[in-house]
Amino acid sequence: MTAWLKRSVDLLKIVRNGDVMGTESAVVAGDYLNLLDGQWVGARSEQFIAVESPRNRKVIARVPRGGEKDIADAVDAAWRAFPGWRDTAPRARGRLLQQIADALEPHLERIARIISEENGNALRTQSRGEVQFAIDVFRYFGSVASEVKGETIPLNPSVLDYSRREPLGVVGAIVPWNAPVQLAVMKIASALAAGNALVLKAAEDAPLAVLEIAKICHEFLPRGVLNVVVGFGSEAGEALITHPDVRKLSFTGSTAVGKRVMSAAAERIVPVSLELGGKNPQIVYPDAGEDWVAQGTITGMRFVRQGQSCTAGSRLFVHRSILDSFVEKVVSHLGKLKVGDPLDEESDIGAIVNRKQFDRVCGYIDEGLSRNDSVVAIGGAPPAEGPLAEGYFVEPTVFVGVDNEWRIAQEEIFGPVMCVIPWDDEDDVIKMANDSHYGLSAFIWTHDIGRALRTAHSIEAGWVQVNQGGGQVLGQSYGGYKQSGIGREFSLEGMVESFTQRKHVSVDTTH
Ligand code: NAD
Repeated sequence: MTAWLKRSVDLLKIVRNGDVMGTESAVVAGDYLNLLDGQWVGARSEQFIAVESPRNRKVIARVPRGGEKDIADAVDAAWRAFPGWRDTAPRARGRLLQQIADALEPHLERIARIISEENGNALRTQSRGEVQFAIDVFRYFGSVASEVKGETIPLNPSVLDYSRREPLGVVGAIVPWNAPVQLAVMKIASALAAGNALVLKAAEDAPLAVLEIAKICHEFLPRGVLNVVVGFGSEAGEALITHPDVRKLSFTGSTAVGKRVMSAAAERIVPVSLELGGKNPQIVYPDAGEDWVAQGTITGMRFVRQGQSCTAGSRLFVHRSILDSFVEKVVSHLGKLKVGDPLDEESDIGAIVNRKQFDRVCGYIDEGLSRNDSVVAIGGAPPAEGPLAEGYFVEPTVFVGVDNEWRIAQEEIFGPVMCVIPWDDEDDVIKMANDSHYGLSAFIWTHDIGRALRTAHSIEAGWVQVNQGGGQVLGQSYGGYKQSGIGREFSLEGMVESFTQRKHVSVDTTH
């Protein structure tokens, strides 16, 4: 038996044995490959990265450890594909994206299970919705592809002056692991609808479902239009952001890496979109101490995504007059959510993505627990025994009586940890809400709509919700203020701004 085949057989055993919690693995045994120039290939280094499932800490598959040479091959392939794709009628490009949406639909369940397995998000509450969202994204950008229009300018009767929106060329996109399919598809569908070719680097912790999506795209797209390379940020990621022929960088991830991406873009003066971190405020007014609001703040905190969401409302400002009764309601609703195997239909909340993130989250919880000037209302240290100790599971945790200046209230934990901060005065709470270098999202809870809107207008965040805590909706120009990012990609206007450049053509019609 060759070493390659033996490894695949070993992996098959691991996947079969991976069924430790009574649920079926959806991951196809063996090695996944990169999509490069319409071919499925391993890394030029012939090295792989093992993908571990956070539900039981077992290796479920391997992906290529892409690096500089793979990125260079992918960028070359994308440039070869670009002229043909650019010159394909926008309506025809849109039709292909719609066909991808149709082809994806029957794979919803299978791909949702793969997401749950690789990044730990609960299947019922998260992963199915994520794949459905991806289908909607292909449909949305497929239907607006021919809306990339220019303008005419009435300079004088004998001059025809018009603008065209032209694609940028080869775009380099990088996504994180927390909503891998949603975030990858946002970049694929919008960049391609606008006529660009794409090199996408998937996150090393959750690349499998993205590669499954790439398989479906590959059935419809001309070769080289979409290339997907997996690798570490310091290798494939760096190679992509510094590649001299990449004409635009579209990055979703942490603010720290976003700064590095922006500085690489500055070296070559290429445009950059950044969707980065958040430490988002939720403000509960004294007239809103009700059950539906408590439930809404739990949704806003994205507890069912283990808090692993950039828009999580992790700083809960509650008016002091309702503090105790409101926290009681939050705890009562939160206590009903079940943490468990992400593939189990009964689980509301799954696992933290990996060991590094698990240790980081536990570190913040330890820090909160070690203080004697706040109390933990629910949660705390992770389960040390029983089935949940087999994976990276953390109970939802709420600290009450936190000061906005503490580290747990200022830094993005990216875990199921919410800090409750009491407030007395409206000006003060707005000041505290804005006292953060982030500015991604915010939530306001009150029956007084005038007050809600005045507060919404004072909050430094790219997206403010009033009396609701849900996720982004296609067509919104979603994005961050301050260090939460630059640019908007979620809408038709976002696609046009982010993935095209404007050219003016001026014609003297008298000659
Ligand atoms: P991360 O920044 O560590 O990694 C994100 C991606 O960047 C990964 O693919 C990684 O391999 C790559 N990367 C890392 N170093 C790189 C480098 N030097 N050059 C190029 N690429 C590099 O973030 P993460 O931990 O994967 O994701 C969590 C972060 O993402 C959180 O801060 C979260 O708020 C943010 N996020 C933001 C949004 C948004 O829409 N604003 C959405 C999802 C996640």
